[in-house]
Amino acid sequence: MRLVSSDAILLDIRTLADHDQVVSMITPEHGRKSGVARGSKRKFSRYAGQLQPLARLQVTWFERDGRELVRLRDVNLVQSAEYLRSSLEDILLGAYLAEHAQKLTEEADDDHLFYRLLDRCLDALRDGGDRSVIARYYEAWSLRLTGIFPAPVECPSCGGRLLDRVALLPRDEVYLTCSDCHSPQAGDERVSREVLAFLIAISNRSPAAMTELDIGETCLASVEELCRLVRRRFLGFELKSYMVMRETLETVNASSREAGHPVTDAG
Ligand SMILES: [Zn+2]
Repeated sequence: MRLVSSDAILLDIRTLADHDQVVSMITPEHGRKSGVARGSKRKFSRYAGQLQPLARLQVTWFERDGRELVRLRDVNLVQSAEYLRSSLEDILLGAYLAEHAQKLTEEADDDHLFYRLLDRCLDALRDGGDRSVIARYYEAWSLRLTGIFPAPVECPSCGGRLLDRVALLPRDEVYLTCSDCHSPQAGDERVSREVLAFLIAISNRSPAAMTELDIGETCLASVEELCRLVRRRFLGFELKSYMVMRETLETVNASSREAGHPVTDAG
């Protein structure tokens, strides 16, 4: 049995038995880990108040070779995710970011890049950065880190610069191509130059730096839809938190319109 200490961002918490919970967390050096927090649901648990989704933690756990589930020993809250609790939009966005990381990372894959991506996006959100830009940055980068959606610089078939051509996402595919290399079919998605430029710009910018660029709402909506299509085709299903976020914000916005109140951004 080994004792391991690490920084972690908490992604998910589930009840295991009467008083125990299983947490899923992403770490910089040990990938995504699942761990049992014994007695965490008891009234005077030592974990009280610390196990919150997207909280940054310092965690110590016991692990055994061949066992995926580790046993938590100590958890210290480094930073709570209170900044994502102040509005309905932020609560929904937080759940979406966490599920995204949960579904797009492999357990025990020691790639630190996904941790860094989430960490930087949370920093930008905490600093009050534009929610929509940060969410699109995160979606596009997390697909890129899974290896399925590289920066759209060149057409993978002819090597031509995509920004100089008509770029398409072919129906049922997860890659972009140029219209010279692909015979058009119903269901292909045309990808605008603005969207290509956004996806190229994130390559060497932090989420905070992206929020300083002037990016139109139409472009952001198209990036969201493109990433949604690619993610859905790759995973084979839609993220539950994404559906909940869209449906809830549409309902809230529809009732705001009826009541004549200003409409909030769907993010
Ligand atoms: Zn081509």
